[in-house]
Amino acid sequence: MPYKNKAIHRIHMRVYMRDYRKKNREWWNACKKRYRKNNLEKARQMDRDWRKKNPEKCRATYLRWRDKDPIKTKLLWRKALAKRRKSGYLSIKIIQEIYEKNIHKFGTLTCCLCFKPIVFGNDSIDHIIPLSKGGTHIKSNLQIAHILCNRKKGNRQGVIPIRIEVVK
Ligand SMILES: [Zn+2]
Repeated sequence: MPYKNKAIHRIHMRVYMRDYRKKNREWWNACKKRYRKNNLEKARQMDRDWRKKNPEKCRATYLRWRDKDPIKTKLLWRKALAKRRKSGYLSIKIIQEIYEKNIHKFGTLTCCLCFKPIVFGNDSIDHIIPLSKGGTHIKSNLQIAHILCNRKKGNRQGVIPIRIEVVK
């Protein structure tokens, strides 16, 4: 052993290793990746602990990342929110399919609550089982309705026929 003093040896080793990691970034990143893969739960817990200990650093990193690509951040936020609601992700493709299905069924764009045709711009997407009651964004839970009918339905479940006063 070149060092008689163990403490000094340890410090020297630490400095040496730090430089070595800096010089061999790729190798070190691969090491970290491998460790993460093999100890996923532990690594996640460590991440959580670090975030709790360093909230300011965490925020700064997030802000830097957000400013780099604001649109992507927005999309990710929306996705995360949908996941938290456990309702899935409402994509443009699904919306298109609902509209096509509605027109195919009724001939023109028609409200599924009052069964009257909808003028473009007055349409909205209604959840048969509301999101607040555990409904999801799946196709079978979605239908087209007037904005007003949708609002009247509120958070009630199912297809509720709404009486509409006829003006004579
Ligand atoms: Zn309606």
